[in-house]
Amino acid sequence: MSEEKKKTAREIIEGYDGPPVRIMEVCGTHTHEIFRLGIRKLLPKQVELISGPGCPVCVTQVGFIDEAVYLALECGVTICTFGDLVRVPGTEMSLAGAREKGAKVRIVYSPVDAEQYAKDHPEEQVVFLAVGFETTTPASCLAVRKASEDGLTNFALLVANKTMPGAYAALKGSADVFLYPGHVNAITGTELCESLVDEGVSGVVTREGSREAQKLVADMMENCDTEWRGLGIIPNSGLRLKKEWEAYDARKKFHVPEMKGRSNPACRCGDVLQGKCKPSDCKVFGKGCTPQHPIGACMVSNEGACSAYYQYS
Ligand code: SF4
Repeated sequence: MSEEKKKTAREIIEGYDGPPVRIMEVCGTHTHEIFRLGIRKLLPKQVELISGPGCPVCVTQVGFIDEAVYLALECGVTICTFGDLVRVPGTEMSLAGAREKGAKVRIVYSPVDAEQYAKDHPEEQVVFLAVGFETTTPASCLAVRKASEDGLTNFALLVANKTMPGAYAALKGSADVFLYPGHVNAITGTELCESLVDEGVSGVVTREGSREAQKLVADMMENCDTEWRGLGIIPNSGLRLKKEWEAYDARKKFHVPEMKGRSNPACRCGDVLQGKCKPSDCKVFGKGCTPQHPIGACMVSNEGACSAYYQYS
């Protein structure tokens, strides 16, 4: 950008005296990196940053944790999961609490690690907690396909994968500008939010995205309604394994009853995820709720807005 253009941009900002322009960091990694690099302190008062729902752990509904606890304690399955999910509070307890009661909960770094664990432990029933967005869903599909190729009957997914378009629609009007997650666009392509993407910026994100990953997910999964913490049920924004893969669907395999989880009434994660309040507006932020003793999911995950505010602000 030329000096002339930079000057003009600065002049425009400094001459603006309306309400702050609200920019939503849709992805939790944005929130952490913006804090970590000190960008917030450099921004003029005319710009306000607000957090969004792009942290997979944060938007996972309380009922999902309850289902995982049920599988671990009532069905005796070994839960394999990313580490962040272990401390997310469920209605009665977290998976860490279930582990104290004897549940087998193992931390893994990928769904394929969970499949390998199942292969190495044929005497155990193993369930991987599949959460996340377009970026992580293909890896869960690959694990199921590998389990099928390996002839495993002791591996399944508890699926809470979500897709972003429904959330983008639900968030309309909650900010003036949205910072969309580039890694999601690497899979979906840029068409979804084309007007906001400068395709010349990245050699990774293309207009069509990853056809291979899209096909893998389309072959094995189908859309369903799903609940997002804070946003409620968004039609067709969730994913589940198709009928031909239902032997790997933990809900069906273990007849998991429907669970309507309840979060702590003091927790405002739902409002934080919609940009309606800042973490520091929550009465228990930094007092009752800290990374060591989280009350809500947004304080647990490394991508959570409350965790970022606690660490950096
Ligand atoms: Fe929930 Fe804790 Fe964040 Fe409050 S500070 S919104 S209780 S995670």
